Amino acid sequence: MALRPGIALILALFSITASAAEINGFRVWTDPEKTRAVLDLSTRADYKLFTLDHPHRVVIDLNSSKLQARLHNDLEFDHDHSGVIETVRHGFPDKNTLRVVLDLSGGSNVKSFMLEPTGSYGFRLVIDLYPEKDSKAAVKQLSDRQRPNRDIVVAIDAGHGGEDPGAIGRKRTREKDVVLAIAKELKKSIDARPGMMAVLIRSGDYYIPLRDRFEQARKHQADLFVSLHADAFKNSKVSGSSVFILSRRGASSEFARRIAATENNSDLVGGVTLNDKDDMLASVLLDLSQSAAMEASNGVARTVIASMRQVSNTHKSHVEHANFMVLKSPDVPSILVETGFISNPGEEQRLQDPTWQKKMARAITDGIQDYFYLSPPQGTWIAANRKPLHYRVVRGDTLGEIASRYRVSLYRLRLANNLKSDNIRIGAQLLIPTT
Ligand SMILES: [Zn+2]
Repeated sequence: MALRPGIALILALFSITASAAEINGFRVWTDPEKTRAVLDLSTRADYKLFTLDHPHRVVIDLNSSKLQARLHNDLEFDHDHSGVIETVRHGFPDKNTLRVVLDLSGGSNVKSFMLEPTGSYGFRLVIDLYPEKDSKAAVKQLSDRQRPNRDIVVAIDAGHGGEDPGAIGRKRTREKDVVLAIAKELKKSIDARPGMMAVLIRSGDYYIPLRDRFEQARKHQADLFVSLHADAFKNSKVSGSSVFILSRRGASSEFARRIAATENNSDLVGGVTLNDKDDMLASVLLDLSQSAAMEASNGVARTVIASMRQVSNTHKSHVEHANFMVLKSPDVPSILVETGFISNPGEEQRLQDPTWQKKMARAITDGIQDYFYLSPPQGTWIAANRKPLHYRVVRGDTLGEIASRYRVSLYRLRLANNLKSDNIRIGAQLLIPTT
């Protein structure tokens, strides 16, 4: 149920004296760290939350609430992803209180907060349950950068997830689902290449705050962070893939600005209370270390676009710049790939096609591999074993542009390919020297 803003405001003011929240929905997700339960409320509500042991329970008392739907039957409650939550019950301890009880399978640390309406969502009460566990057991095995001939580590971030479905196509295809499928294919494809390995930042249907996404990439000592998306655009005719990097100077186009605005909104939808008081300081620190990572990001973006152009018409053949929160990783080179437009009926269908997903994953892998063959970090397997690259000429290419993209001189490129002039034929295979 969506309330018009005017009505929501009146109810919110009214709730200061007597709240009358209705529960319209109940949803549950589980990620590797926690189980998240979300109660959809018709208005902001006063609530009390406490936990009980033997057996473990969370009790939420909503003041003066009416129960709009039955929690057991009518509300969506996905038991496959219910994590620590076993059952949900409700009752009325007195005539002004609606009590919701979550029966848990184990002891949990609980965090709860109220979210303001955004997008198609109204007020939401979010309850995060962190299972109590031995913290040492939770420490992950990290890749070792000191190891000789180490693999290049690529952190793959499937955009959105959980409460945040991302863009939705005409046939109700959800961005969060198709990008997760492509992310899994991308991981397979990267893991199959010698000298490369991938980690999935999100491996299921749950939401991860934007900052935590690149924090995880840093923990894995990633050489590259790739965020995958399939957005909607107001014009359903718009199609094709594009690659974005972070810009400190603002967006390179109106298109880039709009895409960044919707992506950055993701945290509000996904259910994170943003605390941005330290943003000024953070942005100063970011600037200091970003230059090198920015240059690398731009390099990867160019080779990935070139590779994607071999399989699909890209929206833009140049790298787009936009101010994405998710790309603000100070020391990890980062790109954001719009794999297609879910708002375009043809692409909506294609995005769901496992064959096309594999093809897209392979093209992104090729582009990433090309970049690291051109600029291998020291001590990596690729640095010791790289070979020359091959590139197939597509419509719109010029020899000068190819030379600049792969950072070789025109002279060397001509020499390597026995070219007498700068004329190139569409479909021709060019040898790109890497050393
Ligand atoms: Zn997106």
